[in-house]
Amino acid sequence: MRFDESVIREIHARTPIAEYIGQYVPLRKRGNDMVGLCPFHGEKTPSFHVHPDRGFYKCFGCGEGGDVISFARKIENLDFNDAVRMLAGKAGVELQPENPGAARARSEKEAIYEANRVAAEFFARALHGEAGAAARAYCERRGFSAATIETFGLGFAPPGWDALRDALAQAGVDPAIGERAGLLKPSQRGGWYDFYRDRLMVPTYATTGEVIAFGGRALADEEPKYLNTATTPVYTKGRHLFALNVAKRATQKDRTLIVVEGYLDCIALHQAGFENAVAALGTSFTDEQAAELRKYADNVYLCYDGDSAGTAAAFKAIDIATKVLEHAGRSVRIVGLPKGEDPDSYVRAHGHAGFQRLLDEAKPSIEFKLDPQIDRLGGGFDSPSAIARKAEELIRQMTPREEWDRWRVYVAGRLKVNVDDLRNSRFFANGANFVPAYGSAGVSGSRHVAAGAQPHSFEREVLSVVVEDPALAAEYVDRIAPGRFRNEVYRRVYERIVEQAGRLRETGDLYVLFAEDAAGLDVLSDLGRRDRSKTRQYGGADERRALLDRVVERLQLDDDKTRYQELSREIDRLYAAGQPVPDALRGEFDALVGRLKR
Ligand SMILES: [Zn+2]
Repeated sequence: MRFDESVIREIHARTPIAEYIGQYVPLRKRGNDMVGLCPFHGEKTPSFHVHPDRGFYKCFGCGEGGDVISFARKIENLDFNDAVRMLAGKAGVELQPENPGAARARSEKEAIYEANRVAAEFFARALHGEAGAAARAYCERRGFSAATIETFGLGFAPPGWDALRDALAQAGVDPAIGERAGLLKPSQRGGWYDFYRDRLMVPTYATTGEVIAFGGRALADEEPKYLNTATTPVYTKGRHLFALNVAKRATQKDRTLIVVEGYLDCIALHQAGFENAVAALGTSFTDEQAAELRKYADNVYLCYDGDSAGTAAAFKAIDIATKVLEHAGRSVRIVGLPKGEDPDSYVRAHGHAGFQRLLDEAKPSIEFKLDPQIDRLGGGFDSPSAIARKAEELIRQMTPREEWDRWRVYVAGRLKVNVDDLRNSRFFANGANFVPAYGSAGVSGSRHVAAGAQPHSFEREVLSVVVEDPALAAEYVDRIAPGRFRNEVYRRVYERIVEQAGRLRETGDLYVLFAEDAAGLDVLSDLGRRDRSKTRQYGGADERRALLDRVVERLQLDDDKTRYQELSREIDRLYAAGQPVPDALRGEFDALVGRLKR
């Protein structure tokens, strides 16, 4: 049985190799590796290395090495199929037999991975060789340490046309595969030539450890400055994130990732100690990249260059980040670089602490988008009421409904207007929105309360009073029980106000209380609309109490009538049966009749 390639990939992705091997071999961290005593040969000093970010292990004593599957085979003495089945079981990966088409595609992909691996090794050797002097000098100017060069597998593509081609041929890589990998170009005279020449080479690794693409940086001012792998069978532009194979380890601490535009910016951040930086790899930020981030991070910082192109890119990225990340509960913040700076220049000039300060000051994505608009509003010639109205429109367009109040507070503070002016501005905006004074629009006229049973006439009255003065809700709840409410939304609003009465100080608190309850919010805004109209209904506490007292009386009257009918039926039944009417019953009935007459 052959397994679909995706099964193997999923096993790699879901089985951290250091953790898995760590169950058999005690491992210690040494640099980027984990080391321990080899389980496959007897030794007293550790020569068994595990590379967590590349997904393989290697013993320098006995030569054993491979991926997590080969480790499982060897240590558990299993054949390939059984090892895959076991690891798939542990990792929760579904198994499907592979079809012949998938097998062909898999073998091509494997050949491309192999070509990339050979190329990466060749480039790395070339960087340290004679021809690599200029590239080494470039790394030095960039401030890349030997450890950084090693971690990122940086290399050098020699000048000339055939150095890599010959190296691939020597390693037995079919040049047609080299072409499929984007490493070689077909020559018009037949044969192939090297695509990357005289460039610093930066490989991109899949999170499972394979080299999937390269970026080539010109060492001087040649154009193009960057030459990148186009889409190949193992690499789709816009799907992968550079350095995620390294950064995903750092996310285990705090589930935070920093996204920058360029891979050299990203490397500079890693070297400055921000090992959770990734780069979006030569494209604008995509949905797929955001979805990839979502797997590893709860907090995402987007860091774009401090120029107009960078700002434009940030705005685009925010839309994607909001859709894919924020809607999935992740936090997205925008790092503001000063004009003319990129992450590399900034971190080199200001160090780890300087860049950390930028992270600490990063704005929530909404704020980043709102701020320029607020500045424009504040700097214009609008009247305060027009400013309030436009600001409210911005908030409603640009922020999620449950956060409107939070952003009203922010925007009002920046524009020096009243929060309530924002909240209410739209009701006065034009005639169409103006709501008639209380009374002329009946309860049933409210399209907002479509759900649930038709409310009693008092339900709205009670709510509009307690919305203005929540303390009264607690005071009257014994006499006006929530169970009296026929409309469930009204009842829910009333109940919550009763519960929270002690903590509600102003009407704005109510909006926060009902942040998650869209129907409740509709009721509130509907009530608020009437309460803010020119004829304010309730002048003061006395007037509010008087209204509630009238409701209490009316409810009492309803109760009395119901009870009167019950008692009448009971007395009639007793008479008909020739039985005496108990005194208690007669006493209650008489008292009831007395009250009802009044
Ligand atoms: Zn060994």
